[in-house]
Amino acid sequence: MTGAGRVAGSGRVGGRVGRVAGSVRGRRAGRTPLGSLSESIIAWLRLAPMSDLAPAVVVSACLLGVECNHRGRGNRSEAVAALAGKYRLIPVCPEVAGGLPTPRPAAERRSDGKVLTADGEDLTEHYERGAEQAVRLARASGAGMAVLKARSPSCGCHEIYDGSHRGVLVKGEGVAAEALRAAGVQVVSEEDL
Ligand code: SF4
Repeated sequence: MTGAGRVAGSGRVGGRVGRVAGSVRGRRAGRTPLGSLSESIIAWLRLAPMSDLAPAVVVSACLLGVECNHRGRGNRSEAVAALAGKYRLIPVCPEVAGGLPTPRPAAERRSDGKVLTADGEDLTEHYERGAEQAVRLARASGAGMAVLKARSPSCGCHEIYDGSHRGVLVKGEGVAAEALRAAGVQVVSEEDL
């Protein structure tokens, strides 16, 4: 799952990623039990010689083509995949890491922070658990930058749907994006690349 390809990355954004990622290398991992995907990635990060590795960047797993979105599909972005030429991409799907199945009902984050499906099922706990996993991966890898899927209730970092399930976008961020930013990770959207 951890990408380390050899495709050339964007010069402008790549440089910004490198400066930020490099500034926070060496952060230590926490101790909370992890899901299998996160656990295997962190185990690899602990074994790898950090001084020999490219700067780490957390990415929404669906942007690398992992079929983990709520419809069971990926959202591959060639611009994001191209970062693998210069950076260690650390894929994470917070919703899956938080224990949700794939496919799963669409959910939206309301202004009070709760994440609900159109049927009113409250999935906030899963979203918060997944956000914790994303932060732990960022810390374990030393990532100072995250490139995330736009408008997701987990990964959106500029605007999200308002919780009405009527297709209304509002300024705001998803649960994982907010947690990563609060942890000191610079969060950008795939659309910023
Ligand atoms: S939670 Fe993030 S990584 Fe997972 S499918 Fe949604 S946008 Fe992609």
